[in-house]
Amino acid sequence: MLQVECFTFNAFQENTYLIIDDKKECWVVDPGMYDNAEVSMLTNYLENHRLLPKAIINTHTHLDHIFGVNALKNLYNIPFGIHTGDVPVLNGAAGAAMLFGFNFPNIPTVDFYIQEHQPIPNGPEGIETRLAPGHSPGSIIFYHQEGKWVIGGDVLFYGSIGRTDLPGGNHNTLLKSIATELYTLPEDTVVYSGHGVVTTIGHEKQYNPFVRG
Ligand SMILES: [Zn+2]
Repeated sequence: MLQVECFTFNAFQENTYLIIDDKKECWVVDPGMYDNAEVSMLTNYLENHRLLPKAIINTHTHLDHIFGVNALKNLYNIPFGIHTGDVPVLNGAAGAAMLFGFNFPNIPTVDFYIQEHQPIPNGPEGIETRLAPGHSPGSIIFYHQEGKWVIGGDVLFYGSIGRTDLPGGNHNTLLKSIATELYTLPEDTVVYSGHGVVTTIGHEKQYNPFVRG
């Protein structure tokens, strides 16, 4: 069974997740550590729990979800994987950093690509990847049926949905992704979002003001 740990980093209060398996191998989803103190918070956790990081797998590549990628690649020599649809977003990250006033000189290099409905290369077993564009063109979600959870990135939040005003975003596409890729999951599925608290598919289908199931 896979476990999930959550950390919240950087000025955007971004949620970084660890997926941990029974062998104490782990995968870092959306590393958002901005400074050395935040990097230490994560690496101390890994060391204290004797976890072995295997790869970085991202739901998408907005700035706040990739701040910590290079630090992890340098420390652990692990590969970084994204969906091909988000390559333009990653390539725009330096410009986005300047726009938002952040220091982010080196855009991380992609080492492998993650495809929907395919096993994740270098990834944990038992995860189903679904493509859920709209917030960004290559947004993917990681669904673990056995554990009844999904790591959903910035697609769906507790009582809200992802913004669609950034390059490559599309509101109608996002609504369709939520309906077809998230609201089709069992209602007791826990949703770990890219920002804010956890929710469930059932709660959002009933109460989300943007999209009801
Ligand atoms: Zn985002």
